[in-house]
Amino acid sequence: MEEIRKKLTEIGKKIVEKGLVAGPGGNISAKDGDFVYLSPSGFFLDEIKEDQWVKVNLKTGEIFGDLRPTCEISMHLGIYIERPDIKAVIHTHPPITLGLISAGIKFKPFFPDYVAILGKEVPIIDYVVPAGEEIRKAVCNEIKRVNVVLLKNHGVVAVGESIKESYTRSLIVEEAAKSIFVGILCGKLKCFTKKEIEKIEKLEAEDYRKALLKNL
Ligand SMILES: [Zn+2]
Repeated sequence: MEEIRKKLTEIGKKIVEKGLVAGPGGNISAKDGDFVYLSPSGFFLDEIKEDQWVKVNLKTGEIFGDLRPTCEISMHLGIYIERPDIKAVIHTHPPITLGLISAGIKFKPFFPDYVAILGKEVPIIDYVVPAGEEIRKAVCNEIKRVNVVLLKNHGVVAVGESIKESYTRSLIVEEAAKSIFVGILCGKLKCFTKKEIEKIEKLEAEDYRKALLKNL
């Protein structure tokens, strides 16, 4: 069994455990050479067995096996075509993030891991119909330049150069959302200035941590 199937199975369990999706929501995939392995449609992410990840040829679109891949396959494949550096795509429906962005709250950097892991810009795109060309176009248009996209009235798409990196980004978005929520409730949330962001981007310690995540 391919190593990638094992890693996807492990991360599927963690995504549910951390409350980033509920029920059969969300979908994830990883790329190995010309092949992409996607979560099967209708499955809970923590119940997918290693042999149930649906293998698809990225170049020809050929689908292997009997299971149907996630209905967001077009978005996943579109991202891999748009960004050849990306090895994993994680789409979740994290409740706090979803509530905040759907209420019009914007995400801005306000703690070091935000800058280091999510990047200085995390854009929000307006609601588009899921499972088709509309969402693929809208997400791919932003994913050219960022690694996390927030989808109003829907959820989050996080990408990375490894499954672990994409997962970490998915996790940190929801952690940031919790802090934004608390910050707004308690007063005015102080966000980083441009200078503060630049200083974090230049930290050697962050480069080391980022390099480590890409290889896991
Ligand atoms: Zn979704």
